[in-house]
Amino acid sequence: MSRLLSSLQDMDREYVGFATLPNQVHRKSVKKGFAFTLMVAGESGLGKSTLVNSLYLTDLYNNRKVLNAEERIVQTVFITKHTVGIEEKGVRLRLSIVDTPGFGDAVNNTESWKEIEDYIDQQFEQYFRDESGLNRKNIQDNRVHCCLYFISPFGHGLRPLDVECMRALHDKVNIVPVLAKADSLTPTEVRRKKMKIREEMEKFGINIYQFPDCEFDEDEEFKQQEQLLKDSIPFAVIGSNIQVESKGRKFRGRLYPWGVVEVEDPAHSDFLLLRNMLVKTHMQDLKDVTRETHYENYRAQCIQNMTRMVVQERKRRLVLHTHTHTQNRRTQNYRDPYTLKLRMQEVLERIHEQMQQGQKPDY
Ligand code: GDP
Repeated sequence: MSRLLSSLQDMDREYVGFATLPNQVHRKSVKKGFAFTLMVAGESGLGKSTLVNSLYLTDLYNNRKVLNAEERIVQTVFITKHTVGIEEKGVRLRLSIVDTPGFGDAVNNTESWKEIEDYIDQQFEQYFRDESGLNRKNIQDNRVHCCLYFISPFGHGLRPLDVECMRALHDKVNIVPVLAKADSLTPTEVRRKKMKIREEMEKFGINIYQFPDCEFDEDEEFKQQEQLLKDSIPFAVIGSNIQVESKGRKFRGRLYPWGVVEVEDPAHSDFLLLRNMLVKTHMQDLKDVTRETHYENYRAQCIQNMTRMVVQERKRRLVLHTHTHTQNRRTQNYRDPYTLKLRMQEVLERIHEQMQQGQKPDY
């Protein structure tokens, strides 16, 4: 026993123990579990639900109702949210998918992004309320951490609706643009469309999610991976809900008369790159940017508005108070017996003087 203690003491001379801090943080976070909210936006039929199912290998849309053309004419955007608990190697993730059916479906789509904008704000507002409340311990984070914005492969770059929508949202959420149904384009077309979309985003001042810059001492492989991510924007994606079999292998893919497309094949699409980014490498950064930039902006704006309202209210009360105070002083003067007596004396003296001068009293 004493030998064990002395060996521990020997160890302690060189080792204080704070090197275990990351492990402690890790253990605590794993125990608490993680939460992530992903929003998908873009015209209906671009493969949003299929991609989400492919990304997380679950069926998040099992009770989905697809509207017919007649219903879509009058359709306004409504927000749906599906939440699933996923566990992998003992790590629990509460994944929420926020979908925006009806977006871009109506005849007049002016401001159809308003619902989306309001939804994001409402989540910030709820968080702000919870954070300012009494029970801050068990706050559920429903803030939207990332918005996958689907761009049609059939147009010539961005549509006006895409530009307006992304511009309305870019200060509130991390936008990650994706080029949908990439299997309908040739590799040259994909390259050209990506370039055009990037140029247009710059031209219209759309601020999408920026991958963090690498530290100079980061390893080469990591730097290359980060550069590849930056160069791949918008990610050209393919989704599939089914498993296909080809050359003795089973995989998630799309079967065509001329061949098969494999969702996870980097030669066919950027699907794997996107999934790695969303799940393996940048999930925490997306949450950090949401908290430190987007939510902080909202919070600062809220506090500013509240301060302005308090100042206005104080001014209003001050004016009201001064008014009431003067009024009170006037009424009080009449109520005070001493003042009343003096006033009555003054009036009587005036009447007396006027009578002596032979005038008619003016009462
Ligand atoms: P959403 O309305 O945007 O959610 O679109 P869905 O996921 O419901 O997909 C609409 C249609 O497009 C379905 O018939 C899908 O099978 C098909 N689809 C989905 N992803 C892809 C894709 O990557 N490529 C192609 N060619 N079709 C796809």
